[in-house]
Amino acid sequence: MGTKNTECLICGDKIIYSDEVQDVVCHICGNKFKSNAICENGHFVCDKCHSNAALDKIIEFCLETKEKDATIIVQDLMRLEFVHMHGPEHHYLVAAALLTAYNNNGYGDKFWNLNKALKEAKVRASVVPGGVCAFWGCCGAAISAGIFAAIIAKVNPLSKEERGNVNLLTSIILERISKDEGPRCCKRECFSSVLITMEFASKTWDINLGDTQSIKCTFYPNNNQCKGKACQYRK
Ligand SMILES: [Zn+2]
Ligand SMILES: [Zn+2]
Repeated sequence: MGTKNTECLICGDKIIYSDEVQDVVCHICGNKFKSNAICENGHFVCDKCHSNAALDKIIEFCLETKEKDATIIVQDLMRLEFVHMHGPEHHYLVAAALLTAYNNNGYGDKFWNLNKALKEAKVRASVVPGGVCAFWGCCGAAISAGIFAAIIAKVNPLSKEERGNVNLLTSIILERISKDEGPRCCKRECFSSVLITMEFASKTWDINLGDTQSIKCTFYPNNNQCKGKACQYRK
């Protein structure tokens, strides 16, 4: 089971978001950063310390599981140790679940290797900071779906049609996320990202990443900002 912390990893109290970044020191690694997310008791935990242990657990699980349905894999990953209620580990989780479903459904050419793909996705996802949904206007779960699509479609900045496809995919996800407004919920945005990618991959590349078409959230008791019945995954 993941930790029950829904807010500060050190004390569990609320994270306060200020308008401007300030100089902070990570409570775990002691390195200096600039951030605007500090808990009520003054704790700051950097993205790396927040998610590194989770990313290793995610890779370990993905290489073991034989599950073919991305909606099931993504929820399995959310239950792993070190995967918190919210946090930048979700920027990797979506890509990892989709790549694993892709692999377990037998796709990929002779160059395909799940271990390699998971590592490449980790490099890309690790540079997407926490809070980008709000600070950049581009949710990290949507970016994670884009990372999956870019890897399987072998997209680079000079690609034509597939560069269009990956940006179309993230735009559809972001539209969904925009309609859900806030407060952010990393679980909700991951569910939307996975479900929309499954539909998109089926239509665009004739790829089946699982048959489940809906998800019922079981994580909401740990989410202090859950929107309750207003959330599509609580119905
Ligand atoms: Zn704290
Ligand atoms: Zn740190």
